[in-house]
Amino acid sequence: MIPNDFIQTLLSRVDIVDVIDRYVPLKKAGANYQACCPFHHEKSPSFTVSPNKQFYHCFGCGAHGTAIGFLIEHAGLAFLEAVNELAQSVGLTVPHEASANARAERANRDSAAANSLTDMMQRACEYYR
Ligand code: ZN
Repeated sequence: MIPNDFIQTLLSRVDIVDVIDRYVPLKKAGANYQACCPFHHEKSPSFTVSPNKQFYHCFGCGAHGTAIGFLIEHAGLAFLEAVNELAQSVGLTVPHEASANARAERANRDSAAANSLTDMMQRACEYYR
């Protein structure tokens, strides 16, 4: 499982406009970006992407979501693939890997502590001898 706060961080680092523009060329229209909706057939663009709110919305068919949602719905990625791809594009590490690293670090620290304890015991032994 990927922690929800990582998803929030990821979405705050990623720009949905960049993500969608790779698949659907967007045109700036005021504060938002527009395109013909990739989720239904249309001749005038009702698909809008909001850089402020970081979501897309289609007034024609009601498609709506975040950058992650777009990759799932449009590019056909699985949730984890979408998260991985976005994380990679902004240089973030998906936390299930990070937690494995953290575990390894903790194990190292524990064995270092154990070493210094043996050290101390040895020195104490020598002292008493
Ligand atoms: Zn639509």
